[in-house]
Amino acid sequence: MKILLYILIFLFGTIIGSFVNVLIRRIPRKESIVYPPSHCPICEHELKTIDLIPILSYILLKGRCRYCGEKISIRYPAVEMLTGIVFLIIYHKFGLGFKAFSYMFIAAILITVSFIDIDYKIVPNKIILVGFIGGIIFRILMYNYGLIDYIVGLILGGGILLLISLISGGEIGGGDIKLMALIGFFIGWKLTILVLFLSVIIGALGGVILVALKIKGGKDYIPFVPYISIAWFISILYGYKILNYYIKFIRG
Ligand SMILES: [Zn+2]
Repeated sequence: MKILLYILIFLFGTIIGSFVNVLIRRIPRKESIVYPPSHCPICEHELKTIDLIPILSYILLKGRCRYCGEKISIRYPAVEMLTGIVFLIIYHKFGLGFKAFSYMFIAAILITVSFIDIDYKIVPNKIILVGFIGGIIFRILMYNYGLIDYIVGLILGGGILLLISLISGGEIGGGDIKLMALIGFFIGWKLTILVLFLSVIIGALGGVILVALKIKGGKDYIPFVPYISIAWFISILYGYKILNYYIKFIRG
């Protein structure tokens, strides 16, 4: 039975991932997310249900549009797969419950915003707003987890980045600041501080690797949201372990 639940959670993740693809494409262009129905980005032909099965449609169609034969970006099935795997890992670690669902919710937001940041160098306010509405709902549903911890997380997450941004003269975008506040509202203050540390370390490493591989030049814009998102994922999975090691380490 357990294996069936794993499969269901993965499929649920790929369906959400398919919706994430719609958001990544339409939100920055200020298009409606419900109308018109999904269509091929090249020939604009409306897609039928059979063309919209996450991952599977891409494989069956060998990565090409059924109507015009043009290549479909591998990013579509990749985002669906990524969301499915992330949901699966969250379920494996946290079981089924509000906590797991709140993490799946923020994971979908982070995947969406990461790819929009890569494509358009922006963090849309609309998505942040939806994130906060979801955050308020989860805080009410999870009232027994305490509220103060999460509000402090929100203030610290946004506040520390805002401070760094002010000191550095705007090196950090407003979108990153709002996103970090949102993350704080979902994970509480301790993990928020860890996310800040880890995202700087991962961001520096990632930047060096991208420049070394010549994917990016030294002066190119390097989106920060993907690094924040990776740091968030590591923190929810291993955060308290890392913090405990750290405390042991400084105590000698
Ligand atoms: Zn087409």
